[in-house]
Amino acid sequence: MDRFINCDCIIRSDIMGFRIILLGPPGSGKGTQAEKLNDDLGLIRLSTGDMLREAVRDKTALGMMAKEYMDKGALVPDDVVIGLMREKITSLKEGFVLDGFPRTVQQADALSEFVDIDHVINLDVDDEELVSRLTKRRSCPDCNVVFHLLYKPPMKDGICDKCGAALYQRSDDTEGTVRERLKVYRENTFPLIEYYDKKGKLVDIDGSGDINEIYEAIEASL
Ligand code: AMP
Repeated sequence: MDRFINCDCIIRSDIMGFRIILLGPPGSGKGTQAEKLNDDLGLIRLSTGDMLREAVRDKTALGMMAKEYMDKGALVPDDVVIGLMREKITSLKEGFVLDGFPRTVQQADALSEFVDIDHVINLDVDDEELVSRLTKRRSCPDCNVVFHLLYKPPMKDGICDKCGAALYQRSDDTEGTVRERLKVYRENTFPLIEYYDKKGKLVDIDGSGDINEIYEAIEASL
């Protein structure tokens, strides 16, 4: 394994160009772990949810269309999301981590036509834990870092540690919409676990517990 020393830490140069999918239900920690992979290894984080929320905030045609689905906890149509990701991914030379894409078999099939994925990490967390995590989640509208009121509170109440913006609660993080999102996950995204397992690319990681320990398990699996 190719390793080199950088400052006081050991960085594995082999994983810095990896193309990784983070799978898992909403609230399983995909965003948090993708952020850590970005901070640590420089992998570019591509979050379809963040891209769509930005389009909603900017009131673009894409945003106005997507909002209707997102507010209900439903999935935005495949062709829209596939078009968005195809453009982003094919323009990238660096390694990246996909957070929230693919979410359907159709999206996974389309993805395989324009890029080879190295690893798929599935974060496993039980439903009641997910509901608690999501309803207590607070997000940064500017740099997209997420906090949790109990497990990962910001240093200053209501303020993002990373960029100082005021945190907010996503409109789809209310209990009713969260339960709908979990149902949508089970019906549409859960089958991707078997899909990638059959391709020999899947690693299951227990997504409950300490954020740093989960990250270490992910890094060790790469
Ligand atoms: P997230 O931030 O990943 O929880 O995504 C928030 C919402 O954006 C989802 O509930 C969907 O409405 C929409 N969305 C994000 N990613 C996708 C995707 N890959 N396919 C369809 N809809 C998506």
